[in-house]
Amino acid sequence: MTDQYAVIGNPVSHSKSPLIHQAFAEQTQQDISYGAIEAPLDGFKETIQRLVREGYKGCNVTVPFKFEAYQLCNQLTGRARAAQAVNTLLFRDGEILGDNTDGAGLLADIEQNLGRKLLFRKVLLMGAGGAAHGVIWQLFNAGASITVANRNLDKAQKMVAEFAPYGTVSACSYEALAGKQFDVVVNATSSSLSDTLPPLPPGLFAPNALAYDMMYGRQTPFLIFAAQQGATQLADGLGMLVEQAAEAFFKWREVRPDTAPVLARLRA
Ligand code: NDP
Repeated sequence: MTDQYAVIGNPVSHSKSPLIHQAFAEQTQQDISYGAIEAPLDGFKETIQRLVREGYKGCNVTVPFKFEAYQLCNQLTGRARAAQAVNTLLFRDGEILGDNTDGAGLLADIEQNLGRKLLFRKVLLMGAGGAAHGVIWQLFNAGASITVANRNLDKAQKMVAEFAPYGTVSACSYEALAGKQFDVVVNATSSSLSDTLPPLPPGLFAPNALAYDMMYGRQTPFLIFAAQQGATQLADGLGMLVEQAAEAFFKWREVRPDTAPVLARLRA
């Protein structure tokens, strides 16, 4: 019997997840199907309940349901609990297990694909929404020294509060970034969706800095700004997307796919 999986979002038709998971399944010879399901904005829970009844083995969750998915789970991994958001569900023995693979995806892309170790590096994480929540735990565990900047400072302060006693992590406004420099700057805001740039000061990038935009599929104002400001390495979020999918696939199938050919195919 073919095991069924899907990505649930609204909207979801643009999602590359079906393509990625089908490629993983072919490569690892796993007998699965993977579709895209648009849940009504007020019908996420009912959609999940239907999938469980229909015998699905799990699903990915995307915008805007990651926080709702977190509330729905019977069990959570540590990284999902830290993120308070879930992008991967496993349906097993009548239980819903929740994980968040976004942070592992970002870390694998930065450390393995882009060759940047984060230990003792100064990282600026812009944003305090679902994506930023999903990755901060993993950046923290990689030993980075983290500054979170957000328009709504209160949200950023709440996000860093639980990490602050254990390491170098702080929150600030964009204005307070003036005069500071970072080895890695990650844009986890949705500013690129509206072709805008967070209000960044000049001189933000340390020598040999990496600028990373979680958005993919187009040239973003942030990456254009970063190139003008002397960042030496620029990356979009396609690698993160493929790596977080690989981590979800591994959770479900206990087989780790090779991400490089899939990423190369998507880039082509
Ligand atoms: P949310 O809506 O949860 O959060 C949006 C965040 O962006 C908030 O912190 C908000 O600040 C900030 N923001 C929005 N517009 C601006 C602006 N013009 N200037 C400065 N800050 C701004 O979105 P998500 O966190 O879910 O997603 C963020 C981005 O990450 C999206 O582009 C998404 O596509 C991408 N993403 C990519 C993934 C990948 O695998 N590559 C995975 C997950 C997300 P405030 O709180 O002040 O309003």
